[in-house]
Amino acid sequence: MMSTIIMKRVSQKEAENGLVFIHPLKLKDFPKAGEEFAIKFSKGEEKTRIQEVRCNCTDAPKEHAHHYLTIKGFKMNKGDVVQIKKTEGKYLIE
Ligand SMILES: [Zn+2]
Repeated sequence: MMSTIIMKRVSQKEAENGLVFIHPLKLKDFPKAGEEFAIKFSKGEEKTRIQEVRCNCTDAPKEHAHHYLTIKGFKMNKGDVVQIKKTEGKYLIE
């Protein structure tokens, strides 16, 4: 069965840098940070991984991490709705 893991609007920062931030609560739906996996999109498929960056911004009180994916072949514009779906261990972004 196909399940939607992420559904959100692309922010300015995501559009500019070609990345999709992954909320901490959604990490359990993905392979561990740094572990390569394939993700499909309309024009193909590529390997990606969850990347983790340590951070001291004001989004959280203590030092914490942000997590994101980059998918080079998948173009996004600010305000687009992006969805990441999972089916039988395979990932799809649209
Ligand atoms: Zn931060």
